[in-house]
Amino acid sequence: MTIRLFDQDVNQTDFNATVLACEEKNGHYLVTLDQTAFFPEGGGQGADRGVLGEAQVLDAHDVGGVILHTLDKPLAVGAAVEGRVDWTRRLSMMQQHTGEHILSGIICREHGYRNVGFHIGTEAVTVDFSGPLTQEEIRRAERQANEIVWRNVPVRAWVPDTETLAALDYRSKKAIDGDVRIVHIEGADTCACCGTHVERTGSVGQIKVIGAMNYKGGVRLSILCGMRALDHENLQQDENHAISHALSAKPGELTPGVQRLLDERDSLKARCDALGQRVFTTLLNAEHERTVRVLVADMLAPAQHRKAAAQLAEGGRFGLILAPKEAGWSFVLSSPAEDVRPAAAALCQRFGGKGGGPRDMSQGILQSGDPEAFRETLEAL
Ligand SMILES: [Zn+2]
Repeated sequence: MTIRLFDQDVNQTDFNATVLACEEKNGHYLVTLDQTAFFPEGGGQGADRGVLGEAQVLDAHDVGGVILHTLDKPLAVGAAVEGRVDWTRRLSMMQQHTGEHILSGIICREHGYRNVGFHIGTEAVTVDFSGPLTQEEIRRAERQANEIVWRNVPVRAWVPDTETLAALDYRSKKAIDGDVRIVHIEGADTCACCGTHVERTGSVGQIKVIGAMNYKGGVRLSILCGMRALDHENLQQDENHAISHALSAKPGELTPGVQRLLDERDSLKARCDALGQRVFTTLLNAEHERTVRVLVADMLAPAQHRKAAAQLAEGGRFGLILAPKEAGWSFVLSSPAEDVRPAAAALCQRFGGKGGGPRDMSQGILQSGDPEAFRETLEAL
């Protein structure tokens, strides 16, 4: 069994150890030490990173009490080695983890929901609860959780004896054999956990719920604590500044600014549609002097092209609506009386392309050609 220095002192980053084993696996080296300050992945918390001698610690796993360090370089068995844990990453992990305890404990107490999932991801920390929460309930729990942070109460971790444990009311994700390590946060939570936690709640900094979604009949909350909450706030602030600048709206008045922009867009779209319709009608009237009618209709929205083709063909032989594409054209071919399918096939064969549809209307793309060439082809049929 590896001696777990992080259970004795979560602030210890530097330590000395003896290399007990080193095994090559898939280009990496699995190293066992007599003792370690590297917390192995577990309980939703990722493994520590850092260095062992000259080697980078890429990961760490607990296999039946033996902690395996994944290294990029081998270490000599029997050698003394100095280790250093990446403190920024560890502290962030402890902030997220302790923050999760506080929030879960409060939600369990206030709503009776169990925490059924916990994961410290690279972006956010997700916590799943067994029942639903309204936005108001989430805000209230978040506030209560932060009050525990502000009170800076101690976080105590210990392994109680069997009797004490039996009398203790604590949260636990699963049945545990053997020693149970209890983590107690005054006024918030008592939970079985083997992870690393800050020593007083003040070190969590802040607990911020940044998202909530329905999940398996309950709710999945995305939370950020401590330095991650600060980074997130800075990111949002930068984004708000950029939007505020682009909209010429004061920070705090972005919502009316965006609404104004949307209203302007809607009114421009309505004007654009009306103008497009007028241009189309004018061109349509000119084409109606012919029997084979061809019109480039990029003034209309694509959704209107089928209707436009029928209008164009009305009282004539063919109506061909075209819209330029990056290469070639999209087309809708309509006829009030004739089967358009052979005509569409003739266009596709001559100019390259494909199309399909019912007897009276064919739709597709043409890879080459121009409106006059299409007209000639249709007239020659
Ligand atoms: Zn924990």
